[in-house]
Amino acid sequence: MDCREFEAKLWAFLDGELEAAVCAELRAHLEDCPGCLDHYRFEDALRGFVRRCCQETLPEPLRARLYQLLACLED
Ligand SMILES: [Zn+2]
Repeated sequence: MDCREFEAKLWAFLDGELEAAVCAELRAHLEDCPGCLDHYRFEDALRGFVRRCCQETLPEPLRARLYQLLACLED
């Protein structure tokens, strides 16, 4: 599993749509990769936030903005 593969599967992972074996690979990658762990935490928090707002999805431009903002704060 590399970072690109991780990113591609992240949303399905968060949605609980992946097989247990694939989830285990994703978790193993998270343990080795702080960058993906940050991204995972962000998406997970974002999902919680969106759910609280009673919306199915956040518009993509807003999602991108929030992610940029968070990335800036971390630098
Ligand atoms: Zn990674």
